[in-house]
Amino acid sequence: MEKIKVFDAFLVLKQGDITKEEVDAIVNAANPSLMGGGGVDGAIHRAGGPEILRECIKIAEEIGGRLPRGEAVATTAGKLKAKYVIHTAGPIWHGGDHNEPEILRKCYRNSLEKGLSLGLKSIAFPSISTGVYGYPVELASRVAIKAVVDFLKEKNGYEEVRFVLFDDRTYQAYVQAAEEIAKTK
Ligand code: ADP
Repeated sequence: MEKIKVFDAFLVLKQGDITKEEVDAIVNAANPSLMGGGGVDGAIHRAGGPEILRECIKIAEEIGGRLPRGEAVATTAGKLKAKYVIHTAGPIWHGGDHNEPEILRKCYRNSLEKGLSLGLKSIAFPSISTGVYGYPVELASRVAIKAVVDFLKEKNGYEEVRFVLFDDRTYQAYVQAAEEIAKTK
């Protein structure tokens, strides 16, 4: 585990299963349909139970069937320890010149913004877009850490922003990115 003070908050990096985290909200790397899927999305719905999907279906109807990539919405966390799940759809990697970094940055910013509007003090992110969506983790980790550091510089309210990385390679990439970007703050 790594714990780094970033302005008024702690940035925590750990390896693990995000569905088990005790934080106010966990973020889901969803897809635009909000109907669930594989990877971390499937794990969250399995562990949290059907209440999460029920709220996702309702939200999808309200927003015309599709969550634009980079936007974020909140639902109950069902049976999970967290109070909320914040769902955001990351970019699919198409080589890097299709606005992928900007969309990924927006995923983190809008999720943090949503959490702040709900009065949350702690939030946990997975590595958005680096699974099925194919975003290279060395690049995605830098975008993710920079987006969080920039947000914490601008806005007070969070006590902790956590990254919960499933595998060792992903964890090491985020540690490296944090050493480059966050430790100088
Ligand atoms: P995307 O479609 O945004 O690429 P994926 O779920 O396929 O999302 O993968 C995103 C990351 O989440 C990957 O690094 C994957 O290993 C990781 N992941 C899968 N299950 C979990 C889990 N239970 N907790 C945390 N991270 C997970």
